[in-house]
Amino acid sequence: MHNKKINPHIICAAVCAFVFVCALIGTLIIYDAKPAGQIEIISHGEQIYKGASVKRGAPVYIDAGNGENIVRIDEKGVCVESANCPDKDCVNSGYLKNTYLPIVCLPNELIIRYTLSEGAADSDEPDAISQ
Ligand SMILES: [Zn+2]
Repeated sequence: MHNKKINPHIICAAVCAFVFVCALIGTLIIYDAKPAGQIEIISHGEQIYKGASVKRGAPVYIDAGNGENIVRIDEKGVCVESANCPDKDCVNSGYLKNTYLPIVCLPNELIIRYTLSEGAADSDEPDAISQ
């Protein structure tokens, strides 16, 4: 039996591998996105903190709303150190990784995210300056 024709299973596997690799690259691009801006903490709809991460020295602790969430900012970034919410999703999120995935505590209405730095070339903000 001559096996000159390409086995359709191999084509299928190749297509699957290609799609998988594309998805992997896309994921890596998202996860690799460097935090461009400052840390922003929003509690109950109000911005309570905006600033850079701590480069060196002691971490900063922020009480985000009546002791409900203790936010830690250190040289690794920002995370929720402790919380009184039932699910502890915010604590389990660990450190804020990128601009796409904020740390959210739904029960306590807390959002921690990176803001885009002002004047960034790739800023998505709609018409920051209009003449
Ligand atoms: Zn929480």
